[in-house]
Amino acid sequence: MLKIILTVAVIAAVYFFLIKKPAVEKKRRNRAEAEAKKPGLDEDIMVECEKCGTFVSSKEAIIVGGKYYCSKSCAGVK
Ligand SMILES: [Zn+2]
Repeated sequence: MLKIILTVAVIAAVYFFLIKKPAVEKKRRNRAEAEAKKPGLDEDIMVECEKCGTFVSSKEAIIVGGKYYCSKSCAGVK
């Protein structure tokens, strides 16, 4: 009985090891890609709305006169 448990444990360990390794590798690659992307101010950063103080991502923010706004109503445009 103990032998069966040990066998199952070894198989599980090997299986876990084989499954987990590529995932770690992938995560590391994603991080490397993220690091590589970091330089550049046009990336997704949080900016504060000039009017109401809400933080919005720079991609969604509306820029009027060099200032960031969270929405068109804050920016005063239609
Ligand atoms: Zn706002």
